[in-house]
Amino acid sequence: MKYDLIVVGMGPSSVFLAYELIQLNNYKNVLLIDQGKPVDKRMCPIEKIGKCVNCKPHCNITCGFSGAGAFSDGKLNSYHLSSKDKDGNIYLGGNGGGYIKKYMTKKQITDLLTYTDQIYLKFGADKKLHGIEHMDEIKKLQDKAIKSNLNLVSYPIRHLGTEKAHILYGKIQNYLKDNGINMMFETEVRDLIVDKNKIKGVEVFDINKNIYQNIYASKVVLAVGRKGASWLSNICKTHKIETKIGSVDIGVRYELPDKIMSKINEYMYEGKFIGRPFPYGDKVRTFCQNPSGFVSAEVYDNGLTLVNGHSYKDKKSTNTNLAILVSHHFTYPFNKPIEYGENIAKNLNSLGGNSIMVQRLGDIFRGRRTWPEDLENNSVKPTLKSAVAGDITYGLGYRTMSDIIQFIKDVDNVVEGFAHPDNLLYAPEIKFYSNEIVLNKNFETNIKGLYSIGDGGGLTTGLMMASCSGVQMARILSKKK
Ligand SMILES: Cc1cc2nc3c(=O)[nH]c(=O)nc-3n(C[C@H](O)[C@H](O)[C@H](O)COP(=O)(O)OP(=O)(O)OC[C@H]3O[C@@H](n4cnc5c(N)ncnc54)[C@H](O)[C@@H]3O)c2cc1C
Repeated sequence: MKYDLIVVGMGPSSVFLAYELIQLNNYKNVLLIDQGKPVDKRMCPIEKIGKCVNCKPHCNITCGFSGAGAFSDGKLNSYHLSSKDKDGNIYLGGNGGGYIKKYMTKKQITDLLTYTDQIYLKFGADKKLHGIEHMDEIKKLQDKAIKSNLNLVSYPIRHLGTEKAHILYGKIQNYLKDNGINMMFETEVRDLIVDKNKIKGVEVFDINKNIYQNIYASKVVLAVGRKGASWLSNICKTHKIETKIGSVDIGVRYELPDKIMSKINEYMYEGKFIGRPFPYGDKVRTFCQNPSGFVSAEVYDNGLTLVNGHSYKDKKSTNTNLAILVSHHFTYPFNKPIEYGENIAKNLNSLGGNSIMVQRLGDIFRGRRTWPEDLENNSVKPTLKSAVAGDITYGLGYRTMSDIIQFIKDVDNVVEGFAHPDNLLYAPEIKFYSNEIVLNKNFETNIKGLYSIGDGGGLTTGLMMASCSGVQMARILSKKK
């Protein structure tokens, strides 16, 4: 089998790459490969039976058409609609959007975001933007945050909602199919075929037929997301693909009543707090806030279960959940951030009997574990019913734990009740990024014809930017044709 182009993975970065190739109309023979299923066949059993059954061979939440986007909360960070500088370019502070800004000018990113946002709207994204009204109230909260050594970042957000994200990506899947994009599902890419430093194709394993085969192409794009981060790291070692040591974000999913978060939820939908709490000065941030949402579990390679969260457009809980993540950058002689994160996850999974663990904040303050009966009497009821009451402090390192606790206290100065003892901490929440792949400005690795986009190689960190990286990749490839 021979194609002009193979894309490994079918997350948003890959899907938007294929969409844009159709518009540019000069690649005829394109193949997308994913180890998961088409979006309409992806179902998470937790919806029906209330607990994660560790779907084999791959988790339905993270794998298949539209990747981790399908069951995501679908918050599209519309950076391009936020405050602009005097030249009309966007502010991309912090790590907003990932490393893609190293490869493009602000003007290029602004235009790309505007274009990509229009595609989401075309396929049915909600026109409503959160975080653009109530600017005075947002400013007051931001001023309060500064006094507590925190930065409260505000971007306009479009919210698809988990169930609507599924429908939207379903429409894109049909569009790609109708326009001649080849898609191979339930197929794992096991290896790359490289000869004299040039890509020649991929070796795949068909899960249903239980057979290996080689598929050839002179251009291959890796779009494997965080799910594929560990695989990607190994592939980089095998084929000497140049990387820089990356980081790993480790923390908890925090759940508290909507009432406490009401202002942030109403004014911003998602408040991104960033701090560097005493004494370590590590970067700690809130991420992926889900008003009236649900805490969820997802299973990664090696059977690791990680916590996440999402919210529906229509079905609502009375709790808000958000991630509190500590960025870990290691220095000489240790250079294995992924293994470090995996070991933390293994320990926590084992302590929780292979389920996500949950603990009351008040119990952490008092130095005791949480028991199931404590949860029954707790004012905040866990929305992840399969979570096991326990002691997460056995699994998270002292430095991570101390960062999280100090950060929660700092945010409490801005959002009263943020440090209420009944609030819940679930662990492990870990964001794996592969070691950052070294790319040239065409997103090409040191192997000729091999490219990398999306979250997997560290280029982006979210739906919107992953999608943008796909559009940009299509434009680059079309110029090279
Ligand atoms: C529950 C949840 C909620 C989220 N909420 C938000 C949100 O509200 N806003 C936001 O911006 N982001 C959110 N995210 C993150 C967002 O989904 C990702 O940033 C985005 O999907 C990254 O896109 P990607 O194309 O890089 O990779 P992914 O979407 O991760 O897709 C990668 C694909 O590659 C496939 N793959 C990997 N390795 C192989 C291999 N060897 N062979 C074959 N296939 C392979 C995987 O099966 C997967 O389908 C959420 C994620 C989750 C899980």
